[in-house]
Amino acid sequence: MNPGLYIHVPFCLRKCPYCDFYSESDLTLKSAYLEALSREMDLVAEALQAPGEFDTVYFGGGTPSLLDPVEVEGVLNEARSRFFIAREAEVTLEVNPGTVTAEKLAGLRQAGVTRLNIGVQSLDEKTLKFLGRLHNAEQARDILSAARSCGFTNIGADLIYGVPGQGKGDVLSDVAALLSYDPEHLSCYMLTLEEGTPLYARHGKKAFSMPDDTVQGTLFETVSDALTQKGYLHYEVSNFARSQAHVSRHNTKYWEMVTTVGLGPSAHGFDLEGLFRWWNVAHLGEWMDCLKKGKRPIEGTETLGQGELMTEALYLGLRRMEGVNLAVFHRRFSVDLAKVLGACLSGFEEEGLMVVDADSIRLTRKGFAVADGVVLRLLQAL
Ligand code: SF4
Repeated sequence: MNPGLYIHVPFCLRKCPYCDFYSESDLTLKSAYLEALSREMDLVAEALQAPGEFDTVYFGGGTPSLLDPVEVEGVLNEARSRFFIAREAEVTLEVNPGTVTAEKLAGLRQAGVTRLNIGVQSLDEKTLKFLGRLHNAEQARDILSAARSCGFTNIGADLIYGVPGQGKGDVLSDVAALLSYDPEHLSCYMLTLEEGTPLYARHGKKAFSMPDDTVQGTLFETVSDALTQKGYLHYEVSNFARSQAHVSRHNTKYWEMVTTVGLGPSAHGFDLEGLFRWWNVAHLGEWMDCLKKGKRPIEGTETLGQGELMTEALYLGLRRMEGVNLAVFHRRFSVDLAKVLGACLSGFEEEGLMVVDADSIRLTRKGFAVADGVVLRLLQAL
């Protein structure tokens, strides 16, 4: 599989209270960031031994839609001048509906973006308010319509559910509202409390209570049923695609553990040849300082041994619809999973959490809802 290029755009107009991604709000640093980004491309291009043809570029953040179309075009041109980027590459840009207009979306398409991932999160005013989002429901609706009218044929939307007080009906109406825009892809995430965020602190002060495991399980199944009944593939625990052709090509690279190159503060990369992972410093100033000195802004690296690779292959494989192919796993690790995990797998089959056949082991929809727990128990038994 071809490698993928990730570009972290570390700016947000303001911080959402549930989010622990790295970002800064001082947009005057944008041009210095872009300058440093091209220096990082130089250093990475020099360091990489023939990484091959990149067939995905992903602008993530932060809020990549704070870049102007001309800046996005500039970054893509800089990347093309240093890396071999396929002509038909999937170029995704994450969009915060509070930061774009229809005109800007048209400009992004012109600049070479082929796929938008719109951070809608909800089309319900109360939910958006709880999440502290910059945009309101009307803005999100306008941007969903504008994305289509200006010619995007591959539109993804993010949805957050499991917000305190939300019931099945609320989640269903949010899903139905989103489906009226016919997105090609949906990423649906259960709200989680990340340590160190303002939402986590408010929860600690008992300002609200989170839905319990049973409610979360019901909501997970509600979302999955609603989307699969409309023909979407539930192809990964949190991801749905209108067809196989609309599965996120870029994210599949992480799940299949192929080479990905991450640029920008806090970005991660993985080198399949050397089986090591690296990550950049999560601080814009330090990242730029390193690059000024001609050094790559790498904070840490980790070389993966057989054990770690096996754990990841099992974890990432079981989070996907296809599951883990037994023959491929055996070829790679010389481990017969069906034999080693026999009793454990039968137990999960009896509970309706897993399907085990001659070719693969995979989670059922019920199993998807408790994927982390199932994988943990399998790893303990391995
Ligand atoms: S816009 Fe996205 S990256 Fe920025 S704070 Fe909100 S959730 Fe986090």
